[in-house]
Parts: sequence; structure tokens; C-alpha cells
Amino acid sequence: MPRPFDLDPLFRNVTTLPGVGPKSLPLFEKLTGGEKIIDLLWHAPVDFVDRRFSPDLKDILNGKIVTIEIRIENHKPAARKGLPYRVRGTDGTGGIDLVFFNANKQWLEKNLPLHQVRVVSGKAEFYQGTPQIVHPDFIAKPEERHTIESVEPVYPLTAGLTNKAVRKAITGALPVIPHLPEWLDETHKKQNHFPSFDTALKALHGPKSAKDIEADNPARMRLAYDEFLANQLALALMRLKARKKNGRAWTNNETLRQKVLETLPFDLTGAQEKAIGEIDEDMHSDLRMLRLLQGDVGSGKTIVAMMAMLNVIECGAQAAIMAPTEILARQHEQSFAPWAEATGLKMITLTGRDKGKVREEILDQIKNGEVHIVIGTHSLFQSGVEFFDLGLAVIDEQHRFGVHQRLELSSKGKGTDVLVMTATPIPRTLTLTAYGDMEVSRLDEKPPGREPVDTRLFSKEKVEDIMTAIRGQIDKGARIYWVCPLVEESEKLDLEAAEERYDVLKDHFGTDVGLVHGRMKPAEKDSVMKDFADGNIKILVSTTVIEVGVNVPEATIMVIEQAERFGLAQLHQLRGRVGRGAEKSFCFLIYGKLTDAAKERLKIMRDTEDGFLIAEKDLELRGGGEILGTRQSGLPTFKLADLAAHAELLAAARDDVKLILSKDPDLQKKRGQALKTLLYLFEQDQAIRTLEAG
Ligand code: ADP
Ligand code: MG
Repeated sequence: MPRPFDLDPLFRNVTTLPGVGPKSLPLFEKLTGGEKIIDLLWHAPVDFVDRRFSPDLKDILNGKIVTIEIRIENHKPAARKGLPYRVRGTDGTGGIDLVFFNANKQWLEKNLPLHQVRVVSGKAEFYQGTPQIVHPDFIAKPEERHTIESVEPVYPLTAGLTNKAVRKAITGALPVIPHLPEWLDETHKKQNHFPSFDTALKALHGPKSAKDIEADNPARMRLAYDEFLANQLALALMRLKARKKNGRAWTNNETLRQKVLETLPFDLTGAQEKAIGEIDEDMHSDLRMLRLLQGDVGSGKTIVAMMAMLNVIECGAQAAIMAPTEILARQHEQSFAPWAEATGLKMITLTGRDKGKVREEILDQIKNGEVHIVIGTHSLFQSGVEFFDLGLAVIDEQHRFGVHQRLELSSKGKGTDVLVMTATPIPRTLTLTAYGDMEVSRLDEKPPGREPVDTRLFSKEKVEDIMTAIRGQIDKGARIYWVCPLVEESEKLDLEAAEERYDVLKDHFGTDVGLVHGRMKPAEKDSVMKDFADGNIKILVSTTVIEVGVNVPEATIMVIEQAERFGLAQLHQLRGRVGRGAEKSFCFLIYGKLTDAAKERLKIMRDTEDGFLIAEKDLELRGGGEILGTRQSGLPTFKLADLAAHAELLAAARDDVKLILSKDPDLQKKRGQALKTLLYLFEQDQAIRTLEAG
């Protein structure tokens, strides 16, 4: 089904709205993330200005927004530059000054003509006992009073766009909102006092009281529910489709597995055994596996992945593992090498670095089945890559990839099993939004013999002290990560800060300092990382490129500068780089200016190492866009739904979807048809294509 005509008005360009032209289009796009009318309509007000207070001038209150009707008595142009232009008005009970700096005399004389009556709205203040309004928000003729809204929504803005301009465009958009067929269950809708979709969306932009902008008012709840419903329905449809493609039953004698286990210098933890058991159960059945393996950094996911991979390899198929960065792919290569050797299996790595002839040769070996284990970055799911027989796709550090990419890799084989691994412990609610009802295994137990990481907070004035302390540790053979401030979201500035710190540390410690950053060529990066792993470099200064996965057990100190700028999840990831060996490890969090939320985050870091707990706190504290780096996290972001405030709605939407799909899996019935409209509305076109492909 193509997009219903009903939705067309919402998908038009915002330039069709009053006051939006080609010049302001980029601003609107920046503000709302899109250039369609619907993008603008999802942009919700965060506050409102109440202009209903309309007192006699004698009763005017300091600091209140007022709307008053006055007769203009005189104009007093600025006596000299820097002083304001004053326009005096009265209403018979008292007088007021309208005050303008850098005034345009002509404009003022035209809009506030002498002896005429005008309606003026703005914030009243007292100056030397006289009431005044500095730069009124609105000036209108009495017969145009209605153009001044009595309650005016206040929107988040971007430089170059005023609230007035946004308001004007939205006011122009409200009449085009169509009445759509209802996709909600009537009973559920009534119980929750949900208005219809169009009523809700209009109400969103017309708050009349403080209650109306809160997260729990029925209009907002309805829209949040719609959004969750679309998200859950799309995920469920994709999953249903994926499951339908026949999986294969990978039963085998575990001969290869035994060989690998024999090479391990350790026993598997209980958590690893349990996860492998759960994976085996999926893989031995003929349904496709779609499993998420969650485990903190260092919890030992790699060996679990290997065990799963051997299941398919022993049956004659191939297994692939995909990492989000070159460094991590190389690290996997190193981990897998001894295992491949012990089993006589052939493995190969494909990354973006492989070009031309080399790449051709790698692709050949993947295609003709010569190699059993394929390691790679996202270059694995490019169109040129064909597998001989891909039985299992393991996707490491999944939060860096989107849902779509995940499906793309698994579509490289027939009924390929999928194991997704993430080192970011994701709170239950977020798991739902990102993975739908994927099966979950958790590695909630660390390999034995690891001491907790001693985490300490320092203000930035103490940097010198830390450097002195580190000297002693280096003499004892320690290796140190030094992560540099995250400056806004600018890679260039990040780099400058890192380079500066590198110079200081180099001066202080001599030659044993290395620098790694995102702008280096992969080969350069790898060589620095290798020097660090080999111990030729003792201090590795970096921007956040070491964030994921890297394993250097000898590293025992993690220093993070301007730690207040990192999100909890990121700090936790970074700290996970140390505490991997038997030596006691430290994490020094250096902070500059602290907001309350930042203070709270650092305290949590100091007090716990439990990734799942940290993740829950992260979600709780997240707010006001304070956390950098969440945008590239790959987790879905919601336009109106608020995961903290609307968590119950999410659970309800998930249950709703289960019921819907059990009754009408192809969305053919009346409600099903309406739900397709919902999917289009939230641009889940991918799910609709899934539906159509059958
Ligand atoms: P992650 O979950 O972060 O990917 P890795 O798989 O890289 O963790 O494992 C981290 C380190 O722990 C590796 O050096 C690995 O050899 C080691 N390791 C894994 N499992 C165990 C275990 N059961 N006992 C001891 N060490 C283990
Ligand atoms: Mg790993």
C-alpha cells in the first residue's frame, strides 16, 4: 500500500506554510530535523506565555505579562545615542512608557501614531516608579486584538528563528491536519481519555494552562502512545518476517568447540555457560535465532560468540562477526587467531581499508567458501559482499548500528541466525524500543580474579598531583589511558585539546606517550594501539576513540578529563578499559564546572560498577540534552514520547502490538489498515515494505 492520500498535507514541505521561505527553510530543518510539515508539528512547546492579564494601568503589576489598551500621548525620541526612545500612553487610570532602544522613528510613528488607541502586550516593569514595557512583544489596532494570542506557546528555538516565526508556521499548519481513521482500540482509548489524533495534535500546540504542557496530559499521552505503537509495531513486523524465513537447526558434535575450550587458560564463568546454553537452544531449533547478548565490558562476550560461531561452522556453514570500528575488528582478529589455529579453521578480515585487488581476493574467498570465519566492519554488509553460506551473523557493540543495518547483514544468508552483542547495558525500557522482543541473554558475572576499579574524583586544579602520582605507577610498570575533554561536538577542537595534553605529558614523562584520535588513518591508529598493547607506550592520550571494546589487560589507570561532559554510559564504557587484569586499577575522573546532574553522575560512577544499575540511572538523569554522544548511540530517539515519563505507555504498546498481530498479522482488517497509516505517519516505511514482501 502506498502512503495514504490522507497524509499528503502533512508530508508537504514547510515552505508551503505562511512565513516560511527558502531562506528560513534550513533553519526549520535544523530546528525540527526535517523539512516536512509533520516534522514541524512534532515540535512541541515547552512552555507558554499567558497574555490574558489585562489590568487597568493603575493596577499594573511589576514583572507580569500584560495586554493593555492605551491611547498614545506623545513620542520622546532618544536624547542621544544609547538612550531609549519613549512612547507615552494612558488609559485614563494611569500612564505607561513603551521603551525602545536603537529605535526606528518612522516605524514607531507608523505603528504607534499619536492620539490613536493601540493594544500592546509585553512584560510590565517599574522604572523609577513609572510602569514601562521595554520592546513590547505585540502592537495591534483594537480591531486586530484577536491576532494577539491570549495564551502563546513557547517553543524551543534555534538561532535565527523567533518564537513568533515558529508560531506563525505552526498556526498555518494546524488547519491542514487531517482527520485520520482511528488506529487505537476504542476501549483502550476511552479508558485513557485519549482524544482523536487530530484533536490531540492541535491540543499539543494550544496549551491553555500549565497542566497542558505536562507529559501526563491526555493529548500528549495519546501522541506518545501513537509513537510507541508505531515503533513497537514496526519492530514486531520486522521480527515476524525475520523469524518466518526458515531458520536451520545446527546440531553438531561440538568437536570444534572442545578444541577451542582446550586452548583456554581459564574456565568459563557460570554466566557464560548459561548464555551459551541459551544460544544453543535457539540454534539447535529450526527457528531463526535473534538474540541479544548483553554484557559489561570485560565480561567475556568474545568467547561466547566463538562458541556460537562454531555451531554453524561445524555444520559446514560460515560465521561472520561485525565490529563498529577498524580497531575492534583487528582486536577480534587477534582474539580469534589462536582459536582458528587450534581448530584448523580459516579466517579472514574485511574492512574499509581493503581496496582494489586485495578486496577482490577477500571477496572471492568469502564467496567460494574457502574461509569459515569472516571478521569485519560495516563493510561486510555492502552490496558487493556475497557469502558462500552465511549461517550466523554476530554483531558486536550493536548500539552503534541501527536496526536496519542489523537486518541487512542477516539478509546476506538464507535464514541466517543473528546474535547481537552489546557492551552497553541497556535499561529494560530501552531494550524494548531498540530491539522489540528480541530474546536477551545477560553476562552479569565478571570473570574471576578481578579487583574492583578504585574510582576517584578530582577537580581540574589537581591535574598536576595526578601526574605526580602516575609517575610512581609507571615506574612499577603500569599503563595508562588518558582521555581528553570532549569539546562540544567538534572533532577538530577535541583534537586540539588532546594534542595539548599530549605535549604536556610528553614534556613531563619523556617519550613513552602516544596519541590516538579519530582523524588518524586506520593504520596509524592501529600502530599506536599496538605500541600501547606491547608496552612501548606507557601513556595513551586519546579522544574518545578508545571508547569501545579495546582490550589491554596491563592498563590499570584511566584518567578522564572534563568527566562532567560525558554521559554515564560513556564513562562506564571508558572505565571498563581498566580492571581487566589481576592488578588493582584506578579511574580518575577530573571535573571542571559541575551542574547538579553532572555531580550526580560522577557520584554514581564513584559508588558503583554495576553496568545495569548505571544504565537505569542514566535514563533517569538524562535530560535537557546535557549528555553528549547519545545521538550517535543508534538507539531510537522519540519525537514526543519521553522514555522516563511514558515508560508504562511503552509496555502497553508492546502488549497491544502482540494482540494486534495475533489477530491480524498482515494488517488487513479495518484497524490493521488504520495502523498502516500510523506506520506511514511515523515514517516506518521499512516495516510496511516488510509487510508487502510477505
Ligand atoms: P567483552 O565482553 O568486553 O568483549 P572479552 O571477550 O574481550 O570481553 O573478554 C575480556 C577478557 O577476559 C579477555 O582477555 C578474555 O580472554 C578474558 N576472559 C573471558 N572469559 C573469561 C573467563 N571465564 N575467565 C577468565 N578470563 C576470561
Ligand atoms: Mg568485546
